[in-house]
Amino acid sequence: MTAIHRTLVAVLSIAGILVVVTEARQAAHTAPQSTPTPDAVLAELKTGNEHHVAKQYKHPNATAARQQELAAGQHPHATVLACADSRVPPEMVFDQGLGDLFVVRVAGNVAADDELASIEYAAEHLNVPLVVVLGHQKCGAVTAAVEGGEAHGHLPALVTLLQPAVVKSKDMPGDRVANAVRANVELVVAQLASSQPILAELVGKGKVRVVGGVYSLDTGRVDWLH
Ligand SMILES: [Zn+2]
Repeated sequence: MTAIHRTLVAVLSIAGILVVVTEARQAAHTAPQSTPTPDAVLAELKTGNEHHVAKQYKHPNATAARQQELAAGQHPHATVLACADSRVPPEMVFDQGLGDLFVVRVAGNVAADDELASIEYAAEHLNVPLVVVLGHQKCGAVTAAVEGGEAHGHLPALVTLLQPAVVKSKDMPGDRVANAVRANVELVVAQLASSQPILAELVGKGKVRVVGGVYSLDTGRVDWLH
């Protein structure tokens, strides 16, 4: 082997190693992260909510590097079904960052087919282990359902979905709206956990947990219903 040949072999060897290393790095970069347990995620959300209550945010996963990393794929660790109310933004309430929460928002945090489909997608295709149904104090949609009266536009469809909570809570002592908010969260949690064909099976296998909470506009604290 001539000197030129030896040099060529050495260069090709180094190039080969670089290719292998680069491919290994790319594989590590794009490989799905291991899925945390539902309880571990819930504990993290509880901690994040304490940050929000104290207004001492950590603002995790808010860097440009995180944003670029997420372009390769998302691995959120919780789905949150929350009200559309502007005072209850899930990423702030739980001090979470880019790519952390798969958020579904609709007035009254109800689950019709569109919401169910989104939650199923996250559970089945993104392996999200925790679903949080998040109601809140003084919810306008729940108030409208409790008060009855004439609803305009497309609101009657929404109010109809909240009727079971109004019925369930109507004889409870205390504030009617607060009771209905809580009852609605409990009903939606039960609905999701027993939803066929996808969520009930995942819940049965212990791969997904569905929990509920009610957010206080006064304190910023989530009162967990379990
Ligand atoms: Zn609301």
